[in-house]
Amino acid sequence: MKYDYLIVGAGPFGATFAYFAKLAGKKCLVIDKRDHIGGNIYCENVAGINVHKYGAHIFHTSNKEVWDFVNQFAEFNRYTNSPVAIYKDELYNLPFNMNTFNKMWGIKTPAEAKAEIARQIADLNITEPQNLEEQALKLVGKDIYYKLIKGYTEKQWGRDATEIPAFIIKRLPVRFTYDNNYFNDKYQGIPIGGYNVIIEKLLDGVEVRLNTDFFANKEGLESLADKVVYTGPIDQYFDYCHGELQYRGLRFEHEIIDTDNYQGNAVVNYTEREVPYTRIIEHKHFEFGTQEKTVVSKEYSSDWQRGEEPYYPINDAYNQAIYQKYKLMADEQGKVIFGGRLAEYKYYDMHQVFESAINAAKKEFNI
Ligand code: FAD
Ligand code: UDP
Repeated sequence: MKYDYLIVGAGPFGATFAYFAKLAGKKCLVIDKRDHIGGNIYCENVAGINVHKYGAHIFHTSNKEVWDFVNQFAEFNRYTNSPVAIYKDELYNLPFNMNTFNKMWGIKTPAEAKAEIARQIADLNITEPQNLEEQALKLVGKDIYYKLIKGYTEKQWGRDATEIPAFIIKRLPVRFTYDNNYFNDKYQGIPIGGYNVIIEKLLDGVEVRLNTDFFANKEGLESLADKVVYTGPIDQYFDYCHGELQYRGLRFEHEIIDTDNYQGNAVVNYTEREVPYTRIIEHKHFEFGTQEKTVVSKEYSSDWQRGEEPYYPINDAYNQAIYQKYKLMADEQGKVIFGGRLAEYKYYDMHQVFESAINAAKKEFNI
């Protein structure tokens, strides 16, 4: 055996595990089928701007251990995510808060906002929301649901909001204060210099082979190491024996524009159904950039099929039942550790992936 660990995937999970393995004196080979490290948090420098190539990434966490961990590798700036939503020619602050309610209804106090929401849903009698539509109506009433949620959600997930689990809308805070911070977490920011700085430091001194697909030579690669850390899709690892898990796909149109400020905000959501993209990202605003030009990315949500990049796991009951079968098989594999958004099939944010990798390393190396 040449290596202690073969790590499949150089994203946050694989890179964090490799870092701890290196500290424990283990020898690792990290492979990735892409031509770069970093997984989906990778940034490409275009016209002096860090472009979030696989979608906008804002780091946020309330877990001090995770925050301290990532801060060892990069300093974070003070960026606070405050997207705006455009519906036809109306513009609203997100997440849903007193600024949104004031613009929507002209009201000023929390009591007025609560009374308006209660009035709008009085006839619906929703006690235990069974899906995203019911959950959203219960939280913010009909006007906000129909203008800011239904169209966006159905574009994003490619299905009716009544067929989407309620937990997805609970990712967004609803606040009765004038506070446009998209997250409730204690810590938030963008690493100065971009996310690549963190991944490069995690993988410093570790052997990495790019453009290497695990499945192109599974047996040969597995035979190189005592153990495998796998961060790709779990169903693919088991050759889809229990059926295919579903994902949502994305397509990005990146454009350099000859203006210093295109939309005045990093994230602008387009919530009506008729606009084909879900959001436009203007990357320079994540780092308060002062470049003469700007780079914007239109994000289009799409159906996914095997062979394409799997972006969002679809954590509904149908897919969870399939995942549980693979999870049972994974738990029986002594030689393979499964981790990250694709191998755990979870709608994980970055901090949850770092946490999951730190925990996997603690268990493996008795830290
Ligand atoms: P990934 O980053 O996906 O890395 C997995 C790696 O494995 C990839 O590089 C892939 O090429 C490689 N791989 C897969 N299969 C193989 C194979 N067969 N052979 C070799 N290599 C393989 N999180 C936040 O905290 N804040 C945000 O604002 C945020 N925004 C997001 C926006 C979008 C559009 C998306 C899709 C995700 C967002 N996330 C955000 C989530 C974040 O991207 C993930 O939590 C994180 O990237 C997951 O890390 P990972 O290591 O599990 O997987
Ligand atoms: N959402 C919405 N309108 C918006 C933004 C979000 O209805 O303007 C809903 C939508 O269902 C989305 C979910 O909230 O899938 C979670 O949004 P988040 O911004 O967390 O999604 P991500 O950044 O992970 O794509």
